[in-house]
Amino acid sequence: MRSYTGKLIRINLSNHQSHIEDIPEQWMKDFLGGRGLAVRYLYGELGAGVEPLAPDNKLLFMMGPLGATTVQAVSRMAVVTKSPLTGCIAKSIVGGNFGAFLKFAGFDGIIIEGEAEKPTYIHIDREGVHFIDADEIWGLDTEKTQTRLRQRHGASTQIACIGPAGEKLVRYAVIISSERRCAGRTGIGAVMGAKKLKAIAVNSAGPLKVYDPEQFKGLVKKQIEGLRTSPGRIQMTDFGTAYLTLGYEKMGTFPVKNFQEGHLEGVENLSEKELAKLKVKNDGCYGCMTKCGQVRKVTEGPYAGASSEGPDYETIWAIGGNLGITDITYLIAADSLCDRLGMDTISTGGSVGFACELFQRGVINKKETDGLELTWGNHADIIKLIEKIGRREGLGKLLGEGTKRAAAQIGKGAETYAMQVKGLEFPAYEPRAIKGYGLIFATANIGASHMYGRPGDELSGKVDRFADQGKGASIARVQIGQAVTDSVVQCAFGAATGFSPEARAELLVAATGFKEFGDPAYLNKIGERILCLERSFNVREGFNRKDDTLPARMLTEPLQNAGPSTGQVVRLDTLLDELYDTLGYTREGIPSIEKLNSLGLEWVVPDIKKFVK
Ligand code: SF4
Repeated sequence: MRSYTGKLIRINLSNHQSHIEDIPEQWMKDFLGGRGLAVRYLYGELGAGVEPLAPDNKLLFMMGPLGATTVQAVSRMAVVTKSPLTGCIAKSIVGGNFGAFLKFAGFDGIIIEGEAEKPTYIHIDREGVHFIDADEIWGLDTEKTQTRLRQRHGASTQIACIGPAGEKLVRYAVIISSERRCAGRTGIGAVMGAKKLKAIAVNSAGPLKVYDPEQFKGLVKKQIEGLRTSPGRIQMTDFGTAYLTLGYEKMGTFPVKNFQEGHLEGVENLSEKELAKLKVKNDGCYGCMTKCGQVRKVTEGPYAGASSEGPDYETIWAIGGNLGITDITYLIAADSLCDRLGMDTISTGGSVGFACELFQRGVINKKETDGLELTWGNHADIIKLIEKIGRREGLGKLLGEGTKRAAAQIGKGAETYAMQVKGLEFPAYEPRAIKGYGLIFATANIGASHMYGRPGDELSGKVDRFADQGKGASIARVQIGQAVTDSVVQCAFGAATGFSPEARAELLVAATGFKEFGDPAYLNKIGERILCLERSFNVREGFNRKDDTLPARMLTEPLQNAGPSTGQVVRLDTLLDELYDTLGYTREGIPSIEKLNSLGLEWVVPDIKKFVK
């Protein structure tokens, strides 16, 4: 008995057919689960050139080998597809309960294919898969959708759904699960919307068996004991990631006004202690004692009554600090609005910041903004713009395309102010202040994402964060590490898992019985394989070194007003060469044939060899 169910369910919305498939055992050993396994399926099943919002695109939900067990902070789920925002591979990791209950229902994953004729939702229970008319819930926000489905199928029903933004194909729409847990980034909610799939609801009951219950129990006990007194875990429980804001602003790595500078006047209003004053309770994912989610509620002022499970550090920055806003009551209201509409807060904030800078520079005016005064800090009008994006009204219709496409339509040099890589808007880190992040954002196969590796040594000061060379090997290492993390699928917050690579390897063996997983070097090779396959996916779509870059602002404009980071720019050339050399890619950023063969990806060679010069 292994902790994998070994099965996935394939659902075709075009013909309302579904069937259960065995997952090849060798694929589990080669790709672990979650992100890795999903990328393996997607690469093999999607030809090059598929339009992301067309029925041919596929949407995969995949759990990891430890998910739904008693191990802490590993019951997250990977969602993988081709991104409508970037045209690249897309991956997003979501918490909550949905994935665990999917596994209890007997499935490690779901592959969604085709497109329904009319709005539909899927219900999975003991009797199988049911295709149900979604007319009644189409148009509802994510909160109301979940409430309605629980009324219909029972209070314990677990749901993954989209909101109005996904229905209207906002290219950075998200999938929401378990009230307010978000599969954000890269626009996977728009893919679900294009398939006219409003929600997936699951009813099931545990528990799940593991290979060696005694050994497993002892290892989990050790993990829980360690977490109980861990200061890092306690800090996450108390404040979530909000504690990062003040420190990063001081370092000059907290971008302000669409990356024009690095200092935020009034940043102290965004401290974790200020936010804690509005905290109501903790919430979190299945099987996680950290419960980092901070449910907060506004009690007075124009946003009284608003409540959200956040905002976290990224959101505090994206729809707050980056826009010159330090009002936490607005932040809670805007965070809640994004969740209910089903929109990624990072790309939403990036798109609003882009619009504000266009307004500042006179590229657009009140006529184009439908009368909104898009000045920095004007939260009363900015929250109206966020709503317009989710509903695709007025300027929101254009901004829902993402900054890259919107800039191309606006012209007049607007692309200068689109802070994106490969079409994905930037997260809350200024690359000029941490060059390793510059390299990660430039080369991540999903675009500018902070969930594609974290330059921990630079953030902690162990390595000179301003150096423009000598980082390729360490950034390759963290990108590979993230691929393993996302395939386990464990929480990216080390404080919430609290285990070492060795302890994780032991847990994997006890859970799955696959002895190979006991060797961290074997797991590392899996990570390298996943990264290489994702890169091959993009290469097949025509991506190469020219796309591994940053906005001109970061390469040529010295950073302004950013404390110790003032005056920095990113010099990418050497960093790119170093990373490619470490990963076995050509200087054009293409995996070499030798590298593909050494990772057991020889079946990809026919696709890639024509790109290798
Ligand atoms: S720490 Fe937070 S995000 Fe991570 S698993 Fe726990 S509740 Fe989920």
